[in-house]
Amino acid sequence: MEAMCRAAIGHALTEIVFTDHLDVHPLDDCPGYYEPDTYFAELARCRDLFAGELTIKAGIEVGDTHRFGAEIARTVDAFPYDFSLGSVHWIGDEAPFGAPFYESHDSDWTYHGYFREALALAGADSFDVLGHLDMPKREGTAYFGRFDPNLYGDEIRAILRRLIDRGKGIEINTSGWRRSADECCPGPVVLQWYREMGGEILTIGSDGHRPEQLALRFESAYDVARAAGFRWLTTFDRRKPVQHRL
Ligand SMILES: [Zn+2]
Repeated sequence: MEAMCRAAIGHALTEIVFTDHLDVHPLDDCPGYYEPDTYFAELARCRDLFAGELTIKAGIEVGDTHRFGAEIARTVDAFPYDFSLGSVHWIGDEAPFGAPFYESHDSDWTYHGYFREALALAGADSFDVLGHLDMPKREGTAYFGRFDPNLYGDEIRAILRRLIDRGKGIEINTSGWRRSADECCPGPVVLQWYREMGGEILTIGSDGHRPEQLALRFESAYDVARAAGFRWLTTFDRRKPVQHRL
């Protein structure tokens, strides 16, 4: 955390939120790994260390909360989080990560399956913003070619509609720029749909798992957001959105 905070200050960020993973799918690598007490102790230490330099928010990335809602709610409801990012990490019992997955599934199975899960997650609880809406393209582009959101337009718009109606948001996740997709998740077309449909809550994240990945291509993401019609970005404070001029 301390190294991440130093990287954030190096990028001239004024605020950061740590969204450590809480993934409880029994086949995931992570069940039993998440330790909220350790997390909050380290967060408090860094808040003291960087007081006046960096605002450090408490966040969490909850995986597949539409399937593991009760277990996830037990953690999310028990601690003072500012922000909860809800993400699909599993299509049924298959995780869309790594070559073996992409070598054994086609694009339609992958994207239809992923968006079906995302639509269900959009109707679930314990999250504020849907993470990496079209995440399989990050690696999938290398196997399936460029992702065309128009092929899945009805499914994606249904997800956006449900999120907007429930007061939830989406993020621009810049990690697509360090993988084969070579664009943010979601890309410009989906961001424009979201804006046209009345979407207002838009956060930005680099999905950085290492300090050198922090704030990756944020300037490019700001440009994409502006081009899609956004004049603000969102942060969260105790699970409430706060808008900032872009
Ligand atoms: Zn994720």
